[in-house]
Amino acid sequence: MSIAVQSKESIPSGSLSMQFPFLDLKAQYSQIRAEIQQSVTRVLDSQHFILGPEVAALEVEIAKYVGTEFAIGCASGSDALLLALMALEIGPGDEVITTPFTFVATAGSIARQQARPVFVDIDPVTFNISPEAIEAAITPRTKAIMPVHLFGQAADMDAINAIAARHHLPVIEDAAQAIGARRNGRAVGALGTVGCFSFFPSKNLGGAGDGGIITTSDSELAAKLKILRVHGSRKKYHYEMLGVNSRLDAIQAAILRVKLPRLDEWAQGRRMNARRYRELFKAAGLKRFVQAPVEDSTCLHVYNQFTIRAERRDELKQFLDASGIPTEIYYPAPLHREPAFADCPAICPQSEAAAEQVLALPIYPELTLSQQEIVVGAIAQFYQQA
Ligand SMILES: *Cc1c(COP(=O)(O)O)cnc(C)c1O
Repeated sequence: MSIAVQSKESIPSGSLSMQFPFLDLKAQYSQIRAEIQQSVTRVLDSQHFILGPEVAALEVEIAKYVGTEFAIGCASGSDALLLALMALEIGPGDEVITTPFTFVATAGSIARQQARPVFVDIDPVTFNISPEAIEAAITPRTKAIMPVHLFGQAADMDAINAIAARHHLPVIEDAAQAIGARRNGRAVGALGTVGCFSFFPSKNLGGAGDGGIITTSDSELAAKLKILRVHGSRKKYHYEMLGVNSRLDAIQAAILRVKLPRLDEWAQGRRMNARRYRELFKAAGLKRFVQAPVEDSTCLHVYNQFTIRAERRDELKQFLDASGIPTEIYYPAPLHREPAFADCPAICPQSEAAAEQVLALPIYPELTLSQQEIVVGAIAQFYQQA
């Protein structure tokens, strides 16, 4: 038996009752259990599992929500990125400019297409890709720009779109963490050429497994994406291009259709929790030691993560782990430092500094004030004992 299990068992019941997870999916499920079960039963009764009417209905609803003409369901957020690159015919020898401070799938999709991810640095305030750095990295081989709306806040799409327009480049938004986020009132996924979303369970709109969707208002791209996700065929057993098998399951679509109407309300809950953290930091005199996420004044942040910068981050995390406070590090290293991207060297000091300082605190909508007080109390205790 591991030491971790033993030490958990030895925690007195009083403190055990204070324990809560980093993300409590059961708290959300308990609100919508009956409806989810009805929707799953509906699909089981139909015995129609791949694409079909549930997926088509979700595609219409997501396109409407995001404000694009089309939405195309697929098997995951990673596949959404891959399919977008395939539809834009990006391949060997091509360069795609992106950020190294993100989840691996962003740059992984580019490399999987045998194109080259060109990593440029982030804005230290928002953690999002720096438009100035994008402009400086453009070469004749550049074929697209792939910004990420990291942690739930839109990248500087006005500047990015202006650069893209000057150089005639498509913009692929990695919006996996940011469904419902807005910039100047417009939703992510409708800001670039094509938007890529994930329904991984920990995203703000999470399914009961893997899933993804691609949004666009370009009818040609949309038609191509629909063909690419079914092996490159429009008509059964006729293949006009090389595609993949990447479809959204009807069960996932049915579940997501129950959740979508509640998404904005849940985002409000996340935003309220973010406000409460800021107030608690201030009240605890923590502003010297931790920096709360900064909201761009043109953006509606949906807080898939509440990521602080913390002094002596690793020691703080250790202390919080020992106190039973759940936290996560997104991300411990920028991607150009990972062996998988050893052939994509980059100079990104802001990304490297962020990787050493960031710490994500629990932020899900059902998190209570007293739980947040426990989190902030423990952080204050760490810096007081120093
Ligand atoms: C989650 C995520 C993805 C990938 O989504 P999956 O559905 O897990 O494949 C891509 N990019 C970012 C930034 C993500 O957070």
